Amino acid sequence: MINKKLPDHRYQISFPGGNLIYQPLEGLIIDTVKNRSFLIRNKRTFSIIQSKPEREEKSVSDFKPVCLTIYASHQCNMNCTYCYIAGKDAYPDEFIDPVVVKSAAGIVAKNCKDRELPFVVGFHGGNEPLLHPEKLEDYLSICESVADKYKLKLISSCTTNGVISEDTAQWAVKRFSRIALSWDGPPAFHDIYRKDCSNNPTCNKVEKTARIFSDMKKETGGFIIRCTITSLSVDKMPELTGYFYQAGVKIVEFYPVFMNRGQTFSDELIPEQYTFVYHFLKARRYGLARGMKVLFAGSRLHDFHNRYCMILQDNLTVTPDGYLTNCYHHTQNYSNRDNLYFYGRFDESTRVMEFNLPKWNSILKKYETELSVCVNCFNQFHCSHGCPDICPFEDNYNIDIQPDCIKEKWLGLAAVLERTGYLRDFENKEDFFDFFQNISSRRLD
Ligand code: SF4
Ligand code: SF4
Repeated sequence: MINKKLPDHRYQISFPGGNLIYQPLEGLIIDTVKNRSFLIRNKRTFSIIQSKPEREEKSVSDFKPVCLTIYASHQCNMNCTYCYIAGKDAYPDEFIDPVVVKSAAGIVAKNCKDRELPFVVGFHGGNEPLLHPEKLEDYLSICESVADKYKLKLISSCTTNGVISEDTAQWAVKRFSRIALSWDGPPAFHDIYRKDCSNNPTCNKVEKTARIFSDMKKETGGFIIRCTITSLSVDKMPELTGYFYQAGVKIVEFYPVFMNRGQTFSDELIPEQYTFVYHFLKARRYGLARGMKVLFAGSRLHDFHNRYCMILQDNLTVTPDGYLTNCYHHTQNYSNRDNLYFYGRFDESTRVMEFNLPKWNSILKKYETELSVCVNCFNQFHCSHGCPDICPFEDNYNIDIQPDCIKEKWLGLAAVLERTGYLRDFENKEDFFDFFQNISSRRLD
């Protein structure tokens, strides 16, 4: 349920041929010209931290994570150009201690019980989880026994690069409710940036794995492709969708590559935003006609979300060295950095996960201020607010920074228009550009 104390949010969206009032907190769109209204269903609720208005006191006791993410190690068999954990080979070869998993699982399961939700556990983050299924089997067994203790349903998920054996792929299908496969399309796109550690292409292997996943998950669903889009592939998104369709895929999430901290690749790889939106919409239409979901993670109308920070997603994320991290870019703290990305750790003496309260309070203070430009934006409950390029925990952050958010804003508008039947086909890029440039939105209250 939405916290009733949140201030009202109503936005007028005017576009060529119509006028809408959008009330994001109610999930309501009113067509003032044709006098009809639309509900956006299946909305996820806010995290408890986000559901409190700015003026209300927040504390660590408001953090009730119901999802556990485990960064099991830093071991990976690939060397992708745009891996967001550059330099991970230099980290110790260790795996997360099962005792740490048990402690973290206990925290999450208790919250799930209190909030009457299933216990969700996921494996990803700067490693290839399926390289060592025997380790994952141990961690999953621990989570299952904790879930049993609290009489909870366990939902397990895993991301993978797909460069794994057939046996492991079949094991993963049986052990995980949801699997996300990183696959950038046919060899011409995938193999340029996603090579294995010996510099060999990997697309053929990934395609075989995808077949196993799509065949074995046909009945139950729970298989999704994560496809990174570069300037080379941006105008091929409809074709990529067709390629995935042929492989039996039902859900594709497109991610434009972004310049992560510490990355070495050229900015020329980053797709131009208008081009991304134009071809994404074409790909989405192509997919919808074939019963596929084509999604963009940066702007999701059916979810309430903000930056990708773990705390804002009710997610407890644990690193291989036993730290609680708030950021998917920060998967270890081997050099004991004293920053706000890590807000707790497993204490060897007490054998429990301890939160760092002063850090917590500092993190919450950061969340009290928002980018000025987002405060009156219709899309603020469905957008990543410039993350990861703009991060409140970086020294150079200030609320006047302008996010480069055309794709989030236009795809947010497109989702509102699609729901009301006003999103039309575009004859060409100029037609598309002309239409979106003539849309305006303003906050009414
Ligand atoms: S806002 Fe910062 S801490 Fe949060 S996920 Fe993005 S980069 Fe990480
Ligand atoms: S101003 Fe841009 S970054 Fe901020 S909420 Fe709106 S679309 Fe997102």
